Amino acid sequence: MTVHLVGTISERVAQIQSSLPASVRLIAVTKQVSVEAMREAYAAGIRDFGESKVQEAENKQTELADLPDVVWHLIGHLQTNKAQKALQYFQWIHSVDSLKLALRLDRLAASLTQKPQICLQVKLLPDPDKYGWKTAELLADLTELDQCQHLQIKGLMTIPPIGLSDAEVLQLFEQNRQLANKIQAQNWQRVQMQDLSMGMSGDFPLAVQAGATMIRLGRVLFGDS
Ligand SMILES: *Cc1c(COP(=O)(O)O)cnc(C)c1O
Repeated sequence: MTVHLVGTISERVAQIQSSLPASVRLIAVTKQVSVEAMREAYAAGIRDFGESKVQEAENKQTELADLPDVVWHLIGHLQTNKAQKALQYFQWIHSVDSLKLALRLDRLAASLTQKPQICLQVKLLPDPDKYGWKTAELLADLTELDQCQHLQIKGLMTIPPIGLSDAEVLQLFEQNRQLANKIQAQNWQRVQMQDLSMGMSGDFPLAVQAGATMIRLGRVLFGDS
């Protein structure tokens, strides 16, 4: 989908913010976006930046070290060998997509003072291009996930496969919300399900309609890079 942009970054941030319910947190996805453009977004009120690569975030955090109150979100697939660095550079990891990775993060987080906030990435439809738990596998892994004392498991993240109609995308987002509700109703000790990270430039109104609490927007803010 091509995104048609008008105005400056500040105007786009303001326009989108004003269209969102107060319960929705706007995460500006800044992969391949310059630090100058990120400063403009910051000046417009953005405090949440989403990056898909640890190394890119590391470089940008050095350059943006004077911005004190930024929250960094990892939204891309994380290899276990980069887990330690991810914990160093991100307060949120939306893309925890396997039990193995969750257990690794939990062990590593034990040695840090911070408790990372994470989302479990689910794959509600078969999609060879994406990582994530299938529903039944996630439900089966919850007992072990609930043992992760050093993680704050906050909710579910999902990305629809490409090529779905709007109605199908909406249905998939609603399915994600229902899965979160189902898990929440199981009353786990640690696993919480208050957050739903879903919605990108092409589909965020549908995600908001389905109850997203965090939307991850790149192109509608910064253009196609
Ligand atoms: C790139 C990316 C986004 C933002 O996508 P846009 O279409 O640019 O809004 C959101 N989530 C993830 C996981 C991404 O990789």
